[in-house]
Amino acid sequence: MLPPGSTIGILGGGQLGRMLAVAAAQLGFKVHIYAPDAESVAAEVTAHHSQAAWDDEPRLAAFAAACDAVTFEFENVPVDTVRFLSGHVAVRPGAAGLEIAQDRLTEKSFVADLGGRPAPFAAVPGRAALDGAIAGIGTPAILKTVRMGYDGKGQARLATSEDADTAWESIGRHSAVLEGFVDFAHEFSVILVRGIDGEIRYWDSTVNVHDAGILATASLPPPPIVLEQQDAARAMMAGIADALDYVGVLTGEFFATDDGPVFNEMAPRVHNSGHWTIEGAETSQFENHIRAVAGLPLGSTATRALPVTMRNLIGADIAAVPDLLADPHCHVHHYSKTEVRPGRKLGHATWVGSEPAA
Ligand code: AMP
Repeated sequence: MLPPGSTIGILGGGQLGRMLAVAAAQLGFKVHIYAPDAESVAAEVTAHHSQAAWDDEPRLAAFAAACDAVTFEFENVPVDTVRFLSGHVAVRPGAAGLEIAQDRLTEKSFVADLGGRPAPFAAVPGRAALDGAIAGIGTPAILKTVRMGYDGKGQARLATSEDADTAWESIGRHSAVLEGFVDFAHEFSVILVRGIDGEIRYWDSTVNVHDAGILATASLPPPPIVLEQQDAARAMMAGIADALDYVGVLTGEFFATDDGPVFNEMAPRVHNSGHWTIEGAETSQFENHIRAVAGLPLGSTATRALPVTMRNLIGADIAAVPDLLADPHCHVHHYSKTEVRPGRKLGHATWVGSEPAA
């Protein structure tokens, strides 16, 4: 158990790190952000910051020496960075979950081996393999790069086999996986926290609505089909967390289908669909992640009040902040990023126990 005053290191400097840092401060911890980017909205709220490359071993060693435990908020931190740090300081969760989540093919095979149910998939290491994959999986289908895909990036839809060349070019000819198109009723997520002693707690599953591959809203209560499938999806995620001896918050994204929950992907970190827990749950995903990393007892994940709506403020949406603030029931989170770009997550707004006015 880390005593108050200890320093928690966070790899990555985005909004997830910022919200983790605020939660850590509430529990009396100091936070040290490590990230290569010039702008770090996380470091703006912490006392310590290393701006250095992921492979800068002297800087990593100095960072490890300054921290009592390290975690990450960014799922594309190189696995070698986490391995290197693990030789110097406790890193929670460890490299195993990160390594699996960074590779869609490994991730799907890992989940299937544990008895989980991903969408039908086939490896597409090169263009030549795509035709065989289409023959096996059928169309419609989605071609996704094996690595570095997020928020719908690195993906191309194929309506028919005629789209093979266009799809292959549009994902940049990278090693990929072809997925059968899932005919789903809704998308939902399971967010769990696993403590250092193996205890697991779950937040209620939100129904998630995406726009152009990016999460737009997460809300509670979800439609009945999601409630019916929540337990099966939780069991799948608990199996993953136990197999990895995972410590911290772990997220799984699912499709609710007529045949039960289909696993889409996992994130070994706090998740955008869990931002509502700051105001909407007894203990937020950020606080419980810090509690787990610090070896502290976990807090209750119970929902405080229904309904709950979390709406992302993406790109130009950020201009709505003054109007949102005029609604006394709206909780506004502005990430203070300087550059407004289409598709960039710049903030979010949450309503608990009331509906958004508009
Ligand atoms: P991902 O980056 O894999 O989470 O995909 C982004 C979004 O694309 C998902 O949230 C879904 O809305 C959609 N999507 C991804 N994979 C599939 C699939 N196999 N079938 C249907 N829709 C999908």
